[in-house]
Order: sequence, then C-alpha cells, then structure tokens
Amino acid sequence: MFASLAGKTVIVTGASRGIGRGIAKRFGAAGLNVVVVSRTLAEAEIVADEIGANAVAVAADVSTPAGATAMAEAAVRRFGSIDILCANAGIFPAAKLSEMTPEQFDHVINTNLKSCFLTVSAVLPAMSQAGWGRIILTSSITGPLTGYPGWSHYGASKAGQLGFMRTAAIELAPKNITMNAVLPGNIFTEGLEGNGTDYIAAMEASIPLKRLGTPEDIANAALFLASHEAAYITGQTITVDGGQVLPESMAALDALN
Ligand code: NAP
Repeated sequence: MFASLAGKTVIVTGASRGIGRGIAKRFGAAGLNVVVVSRTLAEAEIVADEIGANAVAVAADVSTPAGATAMAEAAVRRFGSIDILCANAGIFPAAKLSEMTPEQFDHVINTNLKSCFLTVSAVLPAMSQAGWGRIILTSSITGPLTGYPGWSHYGASKAGQLGFMRTAAIELAPKNITMNAVLPGNIFTEGLEGNGTDYIAAMEASIPLKRLGTPEDIANAALFLASHEAAYITGQTITVDGGQVLPESMAALDALN
C-alpha cells in the first residue's frame, strides 16, 4: 500500500545485532541498499550476508568524527547516495550515581548522543545534494519518559537525542530532510539479555501487552518514518513499548486481576 523505497540507500548504525540488525534486515527486505555499521566488521558482515547483495558491512566507531566520516564515505562509494540514516548504535552499561565515574558518563554520552551529531553531520552533504532525506534516531523510553536506577547517564543521553532532534529537524526542513525518533520499551536483544533473567521477568510483568518487544517491532516503526507517506512528520517521537509507560503504578496492572 505504501510507495516503494526500493533502490534507496539506508545506513543503519549498530546493525550487527539487536534492534539495528532487525532494522537493517527489514529495510533490506523492502528492497533498499543497506549499509550495516558496527565496530566489529566480522559481525556486521554476517548481517550483510543475511540481507544479500544489496547490503555492505562497514566497520566504524560512530562516537568518533573519523568513524562517522568513514561510514558516510563508504556508503557513497558503494551505492552512490545516502537517503536514510538510522542512528541506532548505543550502549547501556549500568552504574549507580554513587559509583559512576566521569569516564563512564562520557563513554555513554559519546556513544549514544554525540554519535547522533557526528553521523547526522556526516550524511548531510549527500542528503542535501539529493534534496531528500530521512533520519530516524533510536532513543528510548528511559530518559525521555521514565527513569531507572543505574541509568542516569543513559537516560541523559536518550533525552538529549530528542533535544538535539527538535532543533536539527527545524534546520533540516528546508532541505526536505525529516528527523524523527523511535522510543523503544524493553526489546529482547543480545544487549538486553545482559541485564539478566530477573530483570527480563520483571519487565514482562510490567508490560500491558505481556511480552518484550522484538527488533521487528522497532524496525516497522522506523520503516514507516522513512516512508514517502511520512513526509509531513518531523521532530516527532513514536513510543513502541507494548504500553509499558501507561500504568501509573503497578497497582494499575494488579487491578486487572
Ligand atoms: P545491542 O544488542 O547491544 O547492539 C548494539 C549495537 O551497537 C551493536 O551492533 C554494536 O556493535 C553497536 N555499537 C555499539 N557501540 C558502537 C559504536 N561506538 N560505533 C558503532 N557501533 C556501535 O543493543 P540493542 O539492544 O539492539 O540497542 C540498540 C539501540 O536501541 C541502542 O541505542 C539502545 O539504547 C536502544 N534501546 C534498546 C532497548 C532494548 O530494550 N534493547 C530499549 C530502548 C532503547 P559493536 O559492539 O560491534 O560496535
């Protein structure tokens, strides 16, 4: 029903596993050229192989200017254009405020937030030249909407992405480039698995739809924001969380029983 995006080129950062891998595979199945980015080339290559001849793997650390530039150059070299950026790479190491070091804080901010500035800046020349672009940030419910002990640096980085987006979207609108964000709830990925089975069970119990999300749930929202039909949407957020942020307390879920 939606107009085809086939033949357009998407860069997906953090695409070697988890949500990024789901986005890359969904866009690849929709016929786009896919640039699969992560720091680990071998893992990105596996995903690119899964997608097929319309995908290429690129090793780049998107928290550095050199990495972001190399990523954009590789995309243009291979496919000749950059139409869509899914800035998805992120980390979520837990550290309570009383133990958090300045280095840990900087590491999370640089990887999750500064990378958005760097990768958006790196793709701008190609998108500006084409006069068309879609940028989709993977933010989170944590920070923009909620808090969780151990993730104050993470929450700051994810809320910061939205502050960055709201001004950048205004600046990019005259170039016909939109920028929006997806706010995932708890999505079952390799990264989330590291939080342990108790955490996962507690999250499942707190989600009205009674399951963790899948990378495909996030990929579908990203694909919509990339679509021609989403042309008039910019600077906005879509929360994809199975209703997790809706109950005003656990009592709201207990009241169902
Ligand atoms: P994940 O399974 O740990 O995957 C993270 C991806 O990012 C990997 O491909 C990793 O590959 C890459 N990456 C990390 N640092 C990088 C860097 N500096 N440069 C380039 N690539 C880098 O994580 P995930 O759960 O899929 O999360 C993906 C995004 O969704 C993150 O932004 C996260 O904050 C957000 N999110 C996740 C959830 C959830 O429940 N899973 C919820 C809300 C938001 P390398 O290590 O090889 O670089």
